[in-house]
Amino acid sequence: MRVLLHACCAPCMTYPYRKLAEKHEVDAFWYNPNIQPYREYLRRLYAIRKYAKNEGINLIENLEYPLEEWLLIASKLSMKSNVLRCRYCYATRLKKTAHYAKENGYDAYTTTLLLAPYQKHELIREIGENIARMMHIKFLYIDFRDHFDEAERMAKEAGIYRQGYCGCVFSEADRYWRNAP
Ligand code: SF4
Repeated sequence: MRVLLHACCAPCMTYPYRKLAEKHEVDAFWYNPNIQPYREYLRRLYAIRKYAKNEGINLIENLEYPLEEWLLIASKLSMKSNVLRCRYCYATRLKKTAHYAKENGYDAYTTTLLLAPYQKHELIREIGENIARMMHIKFLYIDFRDHFDEAERMAKEAGIYRQGYCGCVFSEADRYWRNAP
């Protein structure tokens, strides 16, 4: 199958790409306007470009960065619940990926978000499958979580930047402010 892999960052792309490429023709897709602030966004973008180049991965980049819109919606949702905020975040990224996949003749799409145990795994699956139904494309669901440590090892070996928080300013605050020692 031709598969479009939404890639949230280089470290999370390592194992899922390798696994998928054993059976499929895979391209990676970057669309992550949830990463803030912008210098952090660039740092992760440069890391994934470098990794893709070194590994011979075709990386398709959507560099749209609708900061005001994203923050406006996400902050309203965040005041109600983190789950609603993350639902919005996952849905925007997966919709863009599915749309590109559909427009460009891929058989299926999936996401590296299915790797990290700290992500809301079942929610990602639900959103991915709902979008797939709406857009008449397959969502290739694979639970990569058991291979998170392997992905970390691969990222360390590749010497790529590994971030300390999920992406948005809210997750940065949770990591370095609210849960600070
Ligand atoms: S915590 Fe992560 S998944 Fe949730 S809204 Fe922030 S960047 Fe998106």
